Amino acid sequence: MIRAESARGDSRALLARGARELGLQLTSDELEMLEAFQEELLNWNQRINLTAITSPEEVAIKHLLDSLTVLRALPPALADERASGSLADVGSGGGLPGIPLAIVRPCLRVSLIEATRKKCSFLEHVAHRLSLTGVTVLHGRAEELAHRPDLRERYDVVVARAVGALAVLAELCLPLVRPGGYFIAMKTPRAAAEIAAARRAVELMGGGCEQMIPVRLPILDQERLLVVIEKQRLTPALYPRRPGVPARSPL
Ligand code: SAM
Repeated sequence: MIRAESARGDSRALLARGARELGLQLTSDELEMLEAFQEELLNWNQRINLTAITSPEEVAIKHLLDSLTVLRALPPALADERASGSLADVGSGGGLPGIPLAIVRPCLRVSLIEATRKKCSFLEHVAHRLSLTGVTVLHGRAEELAHRPDLRERYDVVVARAVGALAVLAELCLPLVRPGGYFIAMKTPRAAAEIAAARRAVELMGGGCEQMIPVRLPILDQERLLVVIEKQRLTPALYPRRPGVPARSPL
């Protein structure tokens, strides 16, 4: 349960405590930046639809700390605080999980891929306000951006949260991953059927066997599941198919 320390204005204590549960010791700068991000998210949410969650405490746990669970699944070369490397967040929306990850891993080059122009304006604003120099906002559909030679098969890690079923995500995300890199889908343990249904799409996109990493959402102690897929072979040039086709007609 959320305790008294989670009263409005005190989400910093909640973030620090939750991060410790994840094995992270956040610096005061990082905590300040996460709080500033939360504040911007809630302010802009009054004008554009970024999140259905509107209490600061819930945002801290269900968005910020949830985003940081991805650190558990990063390959060793990227997990270190000073590690450089590239990560794309497909369907970033209000910057989740990409912005919290960029805050705690400032040496990573983070691309936030988002189809909605207004949400991209928010992401650009936040990256500027927090001086996140490693963050690039890419406006467009993943189906199209994944065919750009400067983006295709260029990322060490591609991550997605709440964008679609795994079979659809595999087609949107795996073409962006370099061979030897990883696609991480943020799911819950309820995703078993979805994972089974995605095997063909994963195989077609050049992905290997999936690894499941169970994580617990701090404070609330809810179960989450990180599905990690290694890119083993190049994706055939045909994929992803045209915008909307992966979701309408999953492989
Ligand atoms: N990842 C964020 C989160 O967890 O809060 C946002 C989730 S929101 C439900 C899904 C987002 O994905 C929306 O902002 C939508 O515009 C974006 N999106 C959906 N399909 C996309 C695509 N094919 N390419 C790029 N963005 C996409």
